[in-house]
Amino acid sequence: MIRERLVKGFKEGYVVPQGLIAHGRGECFDYIIGERTIEPALKAIEAAAATLLLAKHPVISVNGNVAALAAEEVVKLARKVNAKIEVNLFYRTEERVRKIAEVLRESGAEEVLGVDDAVATIPELFSERRRVSPRGIYVADVVLVALEDGDRTEALRRMGKTVIAIDLNPLSRTSLAASITIVDNVVRALPRISEAVDGLKTRSRAELEAIVRNYNNAKVLAEVLLHIERRLRELAEGIDKLVWSAGGP
Ligand code: ATP
Ligand code: MG
Repeated sequence: MIRERLVKGFKEGYVVPQGLIAHGRGECFDYIIGERTIEPALKAIEAAAATLLLAKHPVISVNGNVAALAAEEVVKLARKVNAKIEVNLFYRTEERVRKIAEVLRESGAEEVLGVDDAVATIPELFSERRRVSPRGIYVADVVLVALEDGDRTEALRRMGKTVIAIDLNPLSRTSLAASITIVDNVVRALPRISEAVDGLKTRSRAELEAIVRNYNNAKVLAEVLLHIERRLRELAEGIDKLVWSAGGP
């Protein structure tokens, strides 16, 4: 079902072929982690929720895959934390931008940045993907990105922004460069962030700041890798129960 949503987005012209390939990379890691939200991701989700609640100008950056997979969840989270939604594309064409904005509006977004106002530029990035909205990513203190390219994540960090990334590959350049990396499928992670925001919104600023301060992204990424190690070992040890022998499982 998830794949079909991407195929539909592709046929409608807003998911690019590169996005389909990227999804396959993600699925591979999802198989390996066990297709569920793992403990280290929950830690990152809690830190992400606290960071979004503390942010002055949070922005959720949306590309074709995110629009196809989780447009409604983006709108829901944006509403909860008062974040702006901005379309930002690696392979930008005006037609794709407009289609993605349309998908977001159909999912309830009132305002979508990055359509006619992508006139500011991110330093050090070339081509179309450096174009951002002066009311959105350009002035944001916190940017949430999903399925983002490493160059852009690094450029956003160099601009001094806190970057929350959702990325199934714990070793992608985005995962390594982000301030908070949620190694989880975007379709599971976004609703979980919304839930975490609900759970934290009555906390004081000091409590939220403590959550952010105590969060260590390198440690969380190491925990993801150790989860993978443990899971693969358990699968290897139990492989006799998984493989078919003589015609059946
Ligand atoms: P990087 O540029 O960060 O080194 P990359 O070049 O391998 O990564 P990109 O296409 O730039 O990959 O970014 C897409 C990322 O999104 C990949 O790391 C991929 O594993 C991940 N990804 C794909 N589908 C999903 C999904 N549904 N949920 C979360 N992450 C996903
Ligand atoms: Mg990349």
